[in-house]
Amino acid sequence: MKLILLGTTGYHPNERRHTPCMLIPECGLMLDAGTAMFRAAEYLETAELDIFLTHSHLDHVIGLTYLFSLTHQHPLDRITVHGQPEKLAAVDRHMFSEHLFPMKPPFESRPLSDEFLLAAGDDRPEGRLTHFPLKHQGGSIGYRLDWPGRSMAYVTDTTADPQADYVEKIRGVDLLIHECYFPDVNADWAEKTGHSCTTPVAQVAREAEVGRLILVHLNPLSVEDDPIDVDVAQAIFPKTQLGHDRMELEF
Ligand SMILES: [Zn+2]
Ligand SMILES: [Zn+2]
Repeated sequence: MKLILLGTTGYHPNERRHTPCMLIPECGLMLDAGTAMFRAAEYLETAELDIFLTHSHLDHVIGLTYLFSLTHQHPLDRITVHGQPEKLAAVDRHMFSEHLFPMKPPFESRPLSDEFLLAAGDDRPEGRLTHFPLKHQGGSIGYRLDWPGRSMAYVTDTTADPQADYVEKIRGVDLLIHECYFPDVNADWAEKTGHSCTTPVAQVAREAEVGRLILVHLNPLSVEDDPIDVDVAQAIFPKTQLGHDRMELEF
């Protein structure tokens, strides 16, 4: 199975990264709808799209306003946006108000249930998607996706902590996509803003015994190759890599 990181920064785009949007093309499954949404049509393989939102901060939902372009480039029979009810309501009420974006693209909103079944495909069995709460201003949620013999988790917009409750939820996944907005030198900013810095993210990966760790939601003010000192993370959890836009991950 392949996960494509369409966008790997947070807050706002920069010259090399767009805001969060991850896609599993063969399942028509998207995680978050940031500015990188405009790239999705190039990769879509299905006629239906399920979008799962971690929360409704603008860097994760603004791409819902780009769905007219997406469906023009790649016609879709159905688009469903899944999320917590209060986040879906905020998107509807505020982002699609006539004063901000007056035309609502053709998607249905559906409040998350405890478990979402991932339909079987040509060469894959049925899977399941579950979610769990994360501490963040306004609240965020993480996702775990399991198929027999393979699994992944997506954790963003939270302050990493190897003692946090979510560590149990991601235990043993093959692939962990975790935010890492700051290097350790900005640990105080990470705490203040509800984001993560390098060392605790690597400790989470080690504690949860994941297969590999990919770092995303990097600070958009840092356009250098390595904004968060990835070697610090690798010293704690060797199978760590920085994510980059359009990165394709087999798992
Ligand atoms: Zn964010
Ligand atoms: Zn946020």
